[in-house]
Amino acid sequence: MNRQLTLALSKGRIFEETLPLLQAAGITVTENPETSRKLILPTNDEALRVIIVRASDVPTYVQHGAADFGVAGKDVLLEHGGEGLYQPIDLNIARCRMSVAVSAGFDYASAVKQGARLRVATKYTETARQHFAAKGVHVDLIKLYGSMELAPLVGLSDAIVDLVSTGSTLKANHLVEVEHIMDISSRLVVNQAALKLKRERLQPIIDAFEQASKR
Ligand code: ATP
Ligand code: MG
Repeated sequence: MNRQLTLALSKGRIFEETLPLLQAAGITVTENPETSRKLILPTNDEALRVIIVRASDVPTYVQHGAADFGVAGKDVLLEHGGEGLYQPIDLNIARCRMSVAVSAGFDYASAVKQGARLRVATKYTETARQHFAAKGVHVDLIKLYGSMELAPLVGLSDAIVDLVSTGSTLKANHLVEVEHIMDISSRLVVNQAALKLKRERLQPIIDAFEQASKR
């Protein structure tokens, strides 16, 4: 049986913010994904490698067992559905919130009250669908893959559902946050079969991550 462990991470904040957690487990990644073109990165532990994938692809690699474990945002996990994934811990990293935002002049409260269909542009269609369904608001969802802030400015949508941290991108584009849907942070996800077959190797790392993320 393959004894090697594979950890799926995405470049940028998830990689950066996972490094201290790995450190707590005695693991150092020996190449920098920002400068290396390699998609498989070695670590100081011969039996552990890191693969670099798109943030929204982390659950897919772990679900299919191509990675034994990974780190993904709650936003990504909600869209994916979490099938085949064991989610043991909230790592408390990459924290932000999922919000509804509209153009500064748009009367969101009235639009929602009037019961007209609201046009909502978002990358997070599943989360948006559930949020507005729970409120009984009829929406036309418009799927985008990035730069959601642009949509209300050019009349593509009335509102957007997007991640917000400082709010400076919204502000720079004259958008206002009108609803806070949920708090977001990143989670450790583990392949269910790997957890059984490689528990001896995985558990100490999960425990170290858990301890370090509480600090
Ligand atoms: P891609 O850049 O590949 O389109 P992405 O934008 O989702 O994907 P990142 O920007 O690296 O990738 O975000 C990774 C995760 O970090 C997100 O899934 C989310 O959970 C969290 N995140 C996104 N934006 C912020 C932010 N402004 N502040 C803190 N955490 C964030
Ligand atoms: Mg991003």
